[in-house]
Amino acid sequence: MLLPAFSAPGRFWRGNLHTHSDRSDGGLTPQEVCRRYRAEGYDFLALTDHFVGAYGYPITDTVPFREAGFTTLLGAEIHSGAMSNGELWHILAVGLPEDFQPPHAPGFAPVAGQETGPQIAARARAAGAFVAIAHPQWSGLTLEDARSLEAAHAVEIYNHGCAMGCDRADGAAIADLLLSEGRRVSLVATDDAHFTEPDHFGGWVMVKAEENAPDALLDALKRGAFYSSQGPELRAVHLDTNAVTVESTAVQTVIVQGHGSAATAVHGQSLTSATVPLERFRNSPWLRVTVIDRAGKRAWSNPVWR
Ligand SMILES: [Zn+2]
Ligand SMILES: [Zn+2]
Repeated sequence: MLLPAFSAPGRFWRGNLHTHSDRSDGGLTPQEVCRRYRAEGYDFLALTDHFVGAYGYPITDTVPFREAGFTTLLGAEIHSGAMSNGELWHILAVGLPEDFQPPHAPGFAPVAGQETGPQIAARARAAGAFVAIAHPQWSGLTLEDARSLEAAHAVEIYNHGCAMGCDRADGAAIADLLLSEGRRVSLVATDDAHFTEPDHFGGWVMVKAEENAPDALLDALKRGAFYSSQGPELRAVHLDTNAVTVESTAVQTVIVQGHGSAATAVHGQSLTSATVPLERFRNSPWLRVTVIDRAGKRAWSNPVWR
């Protein structure tokens, strides 16, 4: 079987799902952020300013910056309640309605009586959003925290801002643990760009949809019809009983990962097609694929269930 990103009709659209502007703590206006992403070859962008009282609970209006070949999704990074380390939850919500009811979240510290993270995430999902656990390693998120966010469609497997700003970009460790508990989460790479440091154009999603339109993109995100990248393109990921075959732009390494320590790599030069045997995956109900190119840039498939 082909993974949904490759069997779904349409073509791939490149987008960044996590971005800030000067409506919260970003360095640029919404218009300039949209201009830069469009100029860099992105097909769409979600501006996701911090949805806290200090910034007036912004759901930044990017509709005026849509034009032929470039669209936007409305969204926010929503915050409410404490994680187990006592710090405020950070939750990515893409596809929020512009009248989404604010929580009581005045700033970046939890306050008594506010909604929990899982509660505001559930409310965002019910309002139509695609919900992702933002930068788990940066947050110091525990597995118990991640487990509690039942509304999450996805985990940020890579957050470019966290890579550049604190070398805590990883989401794979916690995502793999969730997958091994049976949670069907997708994996998104994002920029979390603020344009206050080199935190932009480093991680994105490639979403398969019939048109570059907000509803079609959102629907594809929720169905997992996408992959994530820092550079390499995935062309096809095909799962058979005994092997996974991956077609991509030229890479050096193709890895399949699964439950526990299950992983198998195929190395080579300028690989555009590789077949990875699945002997080590007998006990793994799920698999996912990572490719790594000569420059060390990765692309990640969504998990597939067998
Ligand atoms: Zn954040
Ligand atoms: Zn952010």
